Amino acid sequence: MSKAKHRSFLPWWIRRHLAWQDSRAALRARDGDDCWLCHRPMRFGGPPNCGKAATIEHRLPVSKGGTDALDNLVLCHVGCNRHLADHPPEQKERMRINRAAGFAGARAAGRYLRLAAEVRKRQ
Ligand SMILES: [Zn+2]
Repeated sequence: MSKAKHRSFLPWWIRRHLAWQDSRAALRARDGDDCWLCHRPMRFGGPPNCGKAATIEHRLPVSKGGTDALDNLVLCHVGCNRHLADHPPEQKERMRINRAAGFAGARAAGRYLRLAAEVRKRQ
């Protein structure tokens, strides 16, 4: 029996889950393993609703006319998805840039603290 035929006998929620898994795999191949919003690695194959699990995010929300086309979809954490909610795409893009800037700032601060500790050791 072909895979496609087998699928048609499955209940709708399982078919939806399989379709969701297919698009998740396609997005993962396109974008890699990192969250679209926070750029941190996501967890694949774990429990579906843990904080680091990958979810599909609609950049233009379905409630505002967004589609399930792959170029409207990105992968992000469960928590990040909730954070993005149904904000307009421009605002999501800003949130994403702010996140990246925040991490760059944190990294710079870490470098500074290590440097300061190094200087203290030498004195
Ligand atoms: Zn994230």
